[in-house]
Amino acid sequence: MTASPAAPLLDRTTVGPGVDVPQLGLGVFQIPPDQVQGVVEQAIDVGYRHIDTAAAYINESGVGAALRASGLPRDEVVVTTKLRNGDQGYDSTLRACADSLDRLGLDHLDLYLIHWPNPEAGLWPETWRAFERLHEEGTVRAIGVSNFLPEHLRELCRTASVPPAVNQIELHPTHARGDLVALQAELGIAVESYSPLGQGADLALPEITALAEELGATPAQVVLRWHVQHGYVVIPKTTSRDRLVENLDVGALTLTPEQMASIDALDRGHRIGNDPATFSISQIR
Ligand code: NDP
Repeated sequence: MTASPAAPLLDRTTVGPGVDVPQLGLGVFQIPPDQVQGVVEQAIDVGYRHIDTAAAYINESGVGAALRASGLPRDEVVVTTKLRNGDQGYDSTLRACADSLDRLGLDHLDLYLIHWPNPEAGLWPETWRAFERLHEEGTVRAIGVSNFLPEHLRELCRTASVPPAVNQIELHPTHARGDLVALQAELGIAVESYSPLGQGADLALPEITALAEELGATPAQVVLRWHVQHGYVVIPKTTSRDRLVENLDVGALTLTPEQMASIDALDRGHRIGNDPATFSISQIR
């Protein structure tokens, strides 16, 4: 397969020390293992160059198969995967990373994240030391975390030699995470929005549909453009080719400061996913 060129208007941003990522990527959570290869191949074909998976999604092998089938040079695509809660710890992290690389068929990752803080296990220090070793060896270009709350980030940053490059968090118009975003800006940790469309729910808000109509765009494009203009990395999931194209096509759209503020005003603290303060090792292996 010969992939078409990367989407030309898509912004890129830098995370960590010099790791350049397309600001909009494809998330593959809940895409079944037998479908993921086809979806990722289509995504690459329409211009995606950034894929977000996780060991816990049980679909890394399909992502790897799609990357190989695309024929893309390795340095043209950014690949993120995540460490499962049950693999936190020093040796287990090193093993888990090797297993993920094996399933992906890659010799290095662009971004490797601790999937959940899982504070009850108390394994961050040794897990992060293993992340730092993987980074130092060049097995992982940038290391980061996911679902970390302000207190988790502060604690990690107190002992880390290499600070996390990103914190991937649930973030969408009705759950805008203002305090955490401000702290991440202060600590120099890039914001990566997951469930950026509120798993589709935020697209039906009357304020979003009205803006979409006014701009001649779709609700998803309005919401994704809001993330991009805030400077967030954003990883919407879809299995539909048309929506892959639609979601990527936000480079030419511009929201005015007033339009951005009207979306900011939709924040209700409405979390859809699990609570990072309590989500524990027993719930994701
Ligand atoms: P999203 O906010 O990306 O929403 C996905 C839903 O929106 C799907 O039902 C999809 O349906 C629909 N959708 C996508 N595009 C459009 C469109 N243009 N118009 C209308 N509906 C649309 O939620 P996710 O929870 O999937 O988050 C995205 C990614 O974030 C995940 O795939 C994963 O990579 C990451 N993530 C990370 C987590 C973590 O703990 N670190 C937790 C959760 C997610 P359809 O597929 O039918 O198009």
